[in-house]
Amino acid sequence: MYPRVEISLGKIRHNAENIISLCNKEDINVAAVTKVFCGIPEIAKVLVESGATMIADSRIENIKDMKDIKVPKILLRLPMISQAEEVVEATDISLNSELATIRELSTKALEKGKVHKIILMVDLGDLREGIIEEAEVFETVEEILNLKGIELIGIGTNLTCYGGVIPNQENLSRLVHIKEALENKFSIKLDIISGGNSSSLYLLEGEGIPKGINYFRLGESIVLGRETAYGNRIKDTYDDCFKLIAEIIELKEKPSLPIGEIGMDAFGNVPVFEDRGIRRRAICAIGKQDVSIGDIVPEDDKIIILGGSSDHLIIDVTNSLNSYKVGDKVSFKLTYGGILSTSTSEYVKKVIVE
Ligand SMILES: *Cc1c(COP(=O)(O)O)cnc(C)c1O
Repeated sequence: MYPRVEISLGKIRHNAENIISLCNKEDINVAAVTKVFCGIPEIAKVLVESGATMIADSRIENIKDMKDIKVPKILLRLPMISQAEEVVEATDISLNSELATIRELSTKALEKGKVHKIILMVDLGDLREGIIEEAEVFETVEEILNLKGIELIGIGTNLTCYGGVIPNQENLSRLVHIKEALENKFSIKLDIISGGNSSSLYLLEGEGIPKGINYFRLGESIVLGRETAYGNRIKDTYDDCFKLIAEIIELKEKPSLPIGEIGMDAFGNVPVFEDRGIRRRAICAIGKQDVSIGDIVPEDDKIIILGGSSDHLIIDVTNSLNSYKVGDKVSFKLTYGGILSTSTSEYVKKVIVE
């Protein structure tokens, strides 16, 4: 059935083993992040077999799907307060920055006779989640320590995702200092310093990671084989663990300029065209509802992507060495956004291959 995404478990295993062992050499454990592929349990299982000691996802629905995988599950996105009961029920650990939510988690945990573990998020400047003022970190921890339903197991940070701030010795050292200061002030032991995502990986090969950082939460680096601070490929990894395959439903020679007065396209934009004469054009049965055109790269590098609409993708195959015909399949590599959106689209079949 098409369109489909073919997911190579063998390639994912190869990437995960390489990257996790790079981290383990520096005494860093890996929580494998599964949100980009919507928590498909078969993939999560491979990540755990490859050395990930925790699974992390931003959606509770995905975490529930992975309940049979026996490692601790982290909820990555700060919990909605309205979701506190579900969070306590379905996840082992959540990332938090709001006392009101943490109080509610404690209440719900106590009702269920549980203790819910949390990692307190510190904002080192990227301006997404986390407490930015150090004084507030201390006040918050003081309060958390009074909550019977909550166990504070560590602190963490997230960088690069919003503000593009790159992790380095300086900002990550602050996290280590905060952790040590918290331990001294409150006579507690914090087991985890979760020092970021795939954008922290480049430090392993370069200036190093401040001692004390002992967890990374890794998604993109594993599925695409690239670090995300500078976007460099990680050596000996695959970038095509996920491939999109779409079927050709029309193949005809047509002019490259539309005929008639040009108004707006289906998305309200006025399109512009380049006249390349008569071209061989194929329509594939996939569209913007499933994936953005900028997030797919044809494996046949002679194919030019012309555009598309909600349900159609139009490509130019004139220069291709293959003689495509109706019913043939065209395959594409995917960017992070492409894996995310095709994973989310229920119209795209997911097929696991070795
Ligand atoms: C998505 C996410 C990650 C993983 O990021 P990658 O760049 O895919 O490694 C880590 N931490 C948090 C809080 C996230 O939301």
